[in-house]
Amino acid sequence: MRDQGGGLWSALIGQPGAVERLHTAAEAARAVLADQTGPAVAAMTHAWLFTGPPGSGRSTAARAFAAALQCSDAYAPGCGQCQDCHTAIAGTHPDVTLVATDQLTIGVDLTRGLVLGAAMSPSRRRWQVIVVEDADRMTEGAANVLLKAIEEPAPRTVWMLCAPSTQDMLPTILSRCRHLALRTPSPDAIADALSAAEGVERARAYGAAQAAQGHIGRTRALLHDEAAVAGRAEALKLPGEVADVGRALRAAQRLVDAAAAEAKVLNDALDAKETEELKVALGYGQGKGAGSARGVAGSVGILKELETKQKRRATRTQRDALDRALIDIAAFYRDVLAQQFDPAGTAALGLVHQDHAQQTGAVAARSTPEVTLRRIEAVLEARKAIAANVAPLLAVESMAMALRAG
Ligand SMILES: [Zn+2]
Repeated sequence: MRDQGGGLWSALIGQPGAVERLHTAAEAARAVLADQTGPAVAAMTHAWLFTGPPGSGRSTAARAFAAALQCSDAYAPGCGQCQDCHTAIAGTHPDVTLVATDQLTIGVDLTRGLVLGAAMSPSRRRWQVIVVEDADRMTEGAANVLLKAIEEPAPRTVWMLCAPSTQDMLPTILSRCRHLALRTPSPDAIADALSAAEGVERARAYGAAQAAQGHIGRTRALLHDEAAVAGRAEALKLPGEVADVGRALRAAQRLVDAAAAEAKVLNDALDAKETEELKVALGYGQGKGAGSARGVAGSVGILKELETKQKRRATRTQRDALDRALIDIAAFYRDVLAQQFDPAGTAALGLVHQDHAQQTGAVAARSTPEVTLRRIEAVLEARKAIAANVAPLLAVESMAMALRAG
């Protein structure tokens, strides 16, 4: 593969094919700006869809590409050093709009606003880029608004949509996008990248990457975030508790509580910052007049609105944390299955939860592959139930009972 000179592409962990394509597209984009035509510009287009499993780096790839399109380095696009690269990655570039929603859906109003912004000429004379990180959360109405915009694009506008898979997008939108599929990065690639960039000991980074099953953000959380480590420990304790009804129910409760605690750490920090910013914007606590503590007229309603939004986010973050715990448990039983098929232990290197090999080995010895498969099925059922809005505790309790029945 051609050398892309590192730069901002090194942020894409374990994706050499995608880096090659995006770099070529960014070079073609420069050819477009230089008024060239024909094969020199063929690699560039105005609508992109980035897909890949969660944690594979979809939005990282889109941001890097956005930065490469804005990069002012004379030699190659995507230096990672210039002001344009820096601000594009940080989300402060005037011609890059990053839409990262923490809500369950992206609605029509927000999308209309994006479409309006997308039609404006880029202030730095390159591209007007809109990155939508969770394009799969667009409502049908929002997707139709977007569809119109990408059917008749302004000449310098580039849409970058990110979604888990092509099935998450309307076929009409899909057919107008160039598709770039990311794969799950290998534990080796993640360990190399994190030990080089963050100074984490390589063996530790490798173990975390394996436990996170190739999810880069999850790997980082397992290396640096105590609540995430505690949540995982709680999840992996559950299979050892299910033999007894009382203990199984208590384990279910603890699992749901740990997910709530993990989500709370994330939410509290975000909530406090947002509320503070909004209060400052509304003029709370400024001046010495009698009314200053209450802020400007009508602001109570705006603060209420923010509170509602934060509650919805809390629900989602908690659901995500619980889902990760269930993925950990499913992988626990997959490790059990691997050991049942390979009792001599040569499977050890391929285990997800390497640090729990003894526990999975013990369960493997006490049960059969048929039982293990049924248990994996029970965990997947619980994930589905929670995604379908069944109360989390209820779903986890009935999973614990199903695991017990074996
Ligand atoms: Zn640059």
